[in-house]
Amino acid sequence: SLSIGIVGLPNVGKSTLFNALTKNDVLAANYPFATIEPNVGVVGVPDPRLDKLAEIFASARILPATVDFVDIAGIVRGASEGEGLGNKFLANIRESDAICQVIRAFKDENVVHVDGKVSPRDDIETINTELILADLQSVEKAIPRLTKESRMQKDKAKVLAAAEAAQAILAAGDTLFAHGITKGTEQGVLLHELHLLTTKPFLYVFNVDEDELTDEAFKEEQRALIAPAEAIFLNAKLEADLAELDDAEALELLQSVGQEEPGLATLARVGFNTLGLQTYLTAGPKESRAWTIKRGATAPEAAGVIHTDFQKGFIKAEVISFDDLVATGSVAEARAKGKARMEGKDYVMQDGDVVEFRFNV
Ligand code: GDP
Repeated sequence: SLSIGIVGLPNVGKSTLFNALTKNDVLAANYPFATIEPNVGVVGVPDPRLDKLAEIFASARILPATVDFVDIAGIVRGASEGEGLGNKFLANIRESDAICQVIRAFKDENVVHVDGKVSPRDDIETINTELILADLQSVEKAIPRLTKESRMQKDKAKVLAAAEAAQAILAAGDTLFAHGITKGTEQGVLLHELHLLTTKPFLYVFNVDEDELTDEAFKEEQRALIAPAEAIFLNAKLEADLAELDDAEALELLQSVGQEEPGLATLARVGFNTLGLQTYLTAGPKESRAWTIKRGATAPEAAGVIHTDFQKGFIKAEVISFDDLVATGSVAEARAKGKARMEGKDYVMQDGDVVEFRFNV
């Protein structure tokens, strides 16, 4: 499955955040015999639609979609010089599908900042500089090889051109992501063989003081630093406290700081979207469940997520949109009202589709 690597300077609250994340580990809750790696947190993507489905179908359990967060330890500054920890740090980021930077905004004289002052702008620049330098090295190493190869192989000329364009962006101090060059784009595909870091989607967690959680002007300032990436504002200590409480107590604590849901819930949802993922829903007496697919997946591809045989033997998908199902109250009633659609193999799955697959075995 796809994963999000969590990175940041020392003392910004990464461990605090990660511990809170692993307290919410759905893998531990739903699959007691699964192997859990110490640096991976599998977090459920909150989806109130599942509660509603479980009510309609009297489901025994709810299984949300999940996102894997990987705690990437290591010193950031100097990482691109490729020494010891730095190498490992970069290798771990390379394996992640998105990069989540934790940025300190909280002020606390008892917590030392590695650079002596709290400055989100400077910290973001420090981290991005390392990632950009690492990519610049990769690109500059590849260009002589690509130049040679492109004399013999026509298709390599395009890769070379993409690498040269990337070099110019990186040398100017920008990430490729900021220029819209990501995995799914034409340039991104050409650059795939270079295993670059800054073509991965970025998201930012600002670890803020409690009063900043509702400070819209402050949040706008931070967002401007990282556009077009997504920003999540949370207080890591508060998140750690929330993870210890039952639902009612947690809600009370959240409301006392003007929040509607835990920052970790927002993080899971935004992270899931950043990875380019989407869900579709199934429901029955056994379980109501969200299944993870890539945005744009077809009905047979979606069926394949449940079982490869479902994809091979795919005949049709019976699809009812979540809203129609709730409005009609049952599958039978949705069918009677013409709200159940039979979709074929070219159907592109839509958010909120409640599905039952028909297939040959
Ligand atoms: P890491 O080095 O990035 O993993 O940072 P830690 O999670 O170990 O946190 C470093 C210190 O900052 C610890 O003493 C935490 O208790 C403290 N800390 C973490 N988050 C917050 C926060 O939101 N507010 C305050 N005041 N302190 C925090």
